[in-house]
Amino acid sequence: MNTDKYCRVRLAERIDFADDLAVFRFRPDEALGFTPGQYATLGLEVDGRERPLLRPYSVASAPHEDVLDFFVERLEEGALTPRLWDLAPGDSAWVRRRIVGLFTLDTESGGRRRHLMCATVTGLAPFISIARAQQHALATGARPDGGEPHRLVIIHGASYPHELGFYHDELAELDRTTDWLRYVPTVSRPREAEDWTGETGRVGDVLRKHADAEGCTAERAVGYACGHPQMIEHAHAVLQRAGFDDEHLHEEKYFRA
Ligand SMILES: Cc1cc2nc3c(=O)[nH]c(=O)nc-3n(C[C@H](O)[C@H](O)[C@H](O)COP(=O)(O)OP(=O)(O)OC[C@H]3O[C@@H](n4cnc5c(N)ncnc54)[C@H](O)[C@@H]3O)c2cc1C
Repeated sequence: MNTDKYCRVRLAERIDFADDLAVFRFRPDEALGFTPGQYATLGLEVDGRERPLLRPYSVASAPHEDVLDFFVERLEEGALTPRLWDLAPGDSAWVRRRIVGLFTLDTESGGRRRHLMCATVTGLAPFISIARAQQHALATGARPDGGEPHRLVIIHGASYPHELGFYHDELAELDRTTDWLRYVPTVSRPREAEDWTGETGRVGDVLRKHADAEGCTAERAVGYACGHPQMIEHAHAVLQRAGFDDEHLHEEKYFRA
């Protein structure tokens, strides 16, 4: 295989949330720069092919970390994901050196410093990277544009609570301890999770209520949606009805419906 365009990464750890959901933590052989919110092209060598078998994955870790985290859903019939689950710690994979994408924090939109971020399960990854990067910048005094912190309102939907993974605790802690992050996890099958005391329903169903409560109006906020295409369409329809225009709505669809 010609590896010029690729960096070798080694699996450091896989953290399972469910049979079909895990965080893959890879340690790259060289430092790879990226902007929080971008996606990497991750692949495995398969059957002596010239190129690795590749798929895009949003990077969930932040640029200052020495690992690349990916929050991945396993598709039983998928070409790559079952092979990822076969990896053992220390095994190699490949990441295209250029980590790319435009689904980053929109700091171009005038004075808008409120960001309404909608995700289904693994679609949380870019928002985790953005939140961790801002937390790091604030902790080290390195505010990128010198202003007040950007306010992040993250609405994270899943069928069941365990699908929210350890990100639930991480974001709930940021919600409790900072004034710049609001985390709203919501589950659509609460009857099957008796202990759940949080929000219930799909992201699009609860979005308007929380947008209004957080002052995320069409004039002050930017909207983002990432993950399942149906959620993205639903969320955008809700925000368009609230007056958001296309310029201030961003999306990252993980697949076609
Ligand atoms: C920019 C971008 C970022 C992405 N980031 C992530 C990420 O962070 N985490 C993640 O798990 N996936 C992410 N994806 C999806 C990922 O690239 C793969 O499509 C997915 O992992 C399936 O790969 P596979 O080879 O196993 O299945 P394939 O053999 O490629 O796919 C089988 C079929 O399933 C469809 N499909 C893909 N994903 C899903 C899904 N979640 N539910 C239902 N059907 C699906 C495909 O469109 C295809 O028709 C991202 C996609 C894009 C475009």
